[in-house]
Amino acid sequence: MTRLSSRHISQLHLYQVLHAVRRNGAAMSRAEIGESTGLSQPAVSSLTRRLLESGALVEVGARPSAGGGRRERELALNSDFVWVVGVNISLFRITVTLTDFAGSVRGTRSAPLATPMTKAALVKRVVKEVRACLAEHGGAGVALAGVGVALPGFVDSMGDLVHWSAVFSAGKKTQRVTGLAAALSKELAVPVFIENEAKIRALAEQWFGRAARLTDAAAITLDQGLGVGLIINGELYRGRAGLAGELGHVQIVADGRQCHCGKRGCLEAYVAHYAVVEQGQEAGLLPAGTLLPQDIEATYGQLADTARRAGAAGTKARAIFERQGRLLGTWIGNVVNLLALQLVIVDGGRQLAIELLEGPLRAALDEAMVLPHRGRVPVLIDHEGGEAWARGAASLVLQRLDESAQVVSVASRHGFDEDLLPTTTKNPAARRAAA
Ligand SMILES: [Zn+2]
Repeated sequence: MTRLSSRHISQLHLYQVLHAVRRNGAAMSRAEIGESTGLSQPAVSSLTRRLLESGALVEVGARPSAGGGRRERELALNSDFVWVVGVNISLFRITVTLTDFAGSVRGTRSAPLATPMTKAALVKRVVKEVRACLAEHGGAGVALAGVGVALPGFVDSMGDLVHWSAVFSAGKKTQRVTGLAAALSKELAVPVFIENEAKIRALAEQWFGRAARLTDAAAITLDQGLGVGLIINGELYRGRAGLAGELGHVQIVADGRQCHCGKRGCLEAYVAHYAVVEQGQEAGLLPAGTLLPQDIEATYGQLADTARRAGAAGTKARAIFERQGRLLGTWIGNVVNLLALQLVIVDGGRQLAIELLEGPLRAALDEAMVLPHRGRVPVLIDHEGGEAWARGAASLVLQRLDESAQVVSVASRHGFDEDLLPTTTKNPAARRAAA
């Protein structure tokens, strides 16, 4: 076991304080920070002083203390301390979002993307879009702490490795991509972190959303794939090589439909939008032929429109969505049975035909969940679109930087090594405090 040095413990405590204020969502007194983190009052005083000096925290307002005596000054995140860029890469679109230190979205830019593509082409495109977003939304002058990139597929965030992603590989061919974050970091001159899109979505819900006060929750992403991000015991669960949560690729039919991951018979190959479109083609409801990723969503919407109409074609199309809903409901029920989750959030992208599949989904879910869960586990279905993803990508950066205490090490007078200081965090307040 590696022993923690006092510096590491100090960094951990800085992270705990920052995270407590961020999770609280509003200004906190030092006493409340102590209560929330379990740290002693002298420790909280010392840590908050360092965070104030660095510029990460600011003192705001004041409210009377409980005893009616001396007024307590409250602490809040300094939203302009550093900004973060979140990038979401889907199979047909790239979305870039500029987020401040408190997690508020300051600007978004979105553009079509043609996949599959090479790593070099993707790096070039991400760099171009990030620079354009910064220029458009006044981010050129702010201190940029880092970039978080969400992409579909099997992603090892810690190892900077994409085991497989449909962004790079078409059909049965699978292709490993290494060093994507490193290549982007070299071009953009800030730390870059990559992560699977569903894990990013789960992180966004935990940091800024509906899973903020929960310990066990899942975010499910249903569009051109079927992803699962798990929060277990209050932490994003990654597992070996970042491969945890790939329940969309649970095999439900031996030698079944071809999945994009290279296997056959995965659940994804029955319920993802491309799979539903294929079933519409097989039923003669859509023109035959291979579609480009950028055409899938519109075609999925077309099939949903058919399902909303009366007549034989409508009935046939409705049966496809009903089956999609049933399969998803049974599967979500089993995921809840496995992990005893408190909340499940299903994000259906922009083209969720919610009214077509929700009824069968909820009926199958109830049947699949063991009795003690029934009626007690909320399953929320929505379609947030691109911004939620990119905001989650920003939380990935904030998490990594908070954990390493990098953002607060800049101006600390209290003993961080020079080599820990990021060269890219250029907060003016921090420079002044350090001078
Ligand atoms: Zn698969």
